[in-house]
Amino acid sequence: MTTKQNNLTDIIQAHIREVGSNRDSIVRLLVEERGFTLEDGRALAEAVCRKMTEERFPPITEMELMLTEECNHRCDYCFVEGKNPSNPMNRETARAAVDFLFQRSREKAELKILFFGGEPMLAFDLIRDIALYVEKKTAATGKKVSFDMTTNGTLFDEERSEERLAGKECRSWWSPYH
Ligand code: SF4
Repeated sequence: MTTKQNNLTDIIQAHIREVGSNRDSIVRLLVEERGFTLEDGRALAEAVCRKMTEERFPPITEMELMLTEECNHRCDYCFVEGKNPSNPMNRETARAAVDFLFQRSREKAELKILFFGGEPMLAFDLIRDIALYVEKKTAATGKKVSFDMTTNGTLFDEERSEERLAGKECRSWWSPYH
C-alpha cells in the first residue's frame, strides 16, 4: 500500500470515528476534500461501509420470521398479549427478509428459517410463498435452507402436512405451551 493510500485510509478512519458520520458524509469528504468524482466517492464509501459491516458482524445463518401476532387460541399465559390480527407480515417484507438472510450469510451455505407467531399456520399462504421464493434462491446460489416452525399444531390438516413446504425439509414443533 502506498503512502498516499495509507493517508487516505487514515483520513477515512478518522472521519468514521466522528459522531454523526455516515455513508453520505464519507462521500462528501472524498468528493469535496479529496477531489474524487461523485461516482468514485460513492463506490469507495460503499466499499468502506461494506468492509466495516463484515468486520463488525458475523455472517447470519438463521432467521426467525414472526408472520403474524394473531392466534386461533387465547392461552391466558401467552406472551403474545393482545393478539393482533391487523399486523401480519406481508409478502414484500418476507421476501426482503429472505434476501437479507441470503446476502448476509455471505459464504455460509447452510441456512435456517423459523416460522413463528402468534400462530404461523394462520399465514399458510405466506409460508408457501416464502418456501417457493427460497427455492428459487437456493437454485440460484447453491445454498441450502431448512425450515422450522413453532406452532400449536391445531391447524395442520392432511393436505397441508403433505405439502411439506414445496418439498423442502421442514421440522415442525408443536406444543400446547408454545
Ligand atoms: S397457542 Fe401459543 S401463540 Fe397461541 S395463544 Fe396459546 S401460547 Fe399464545
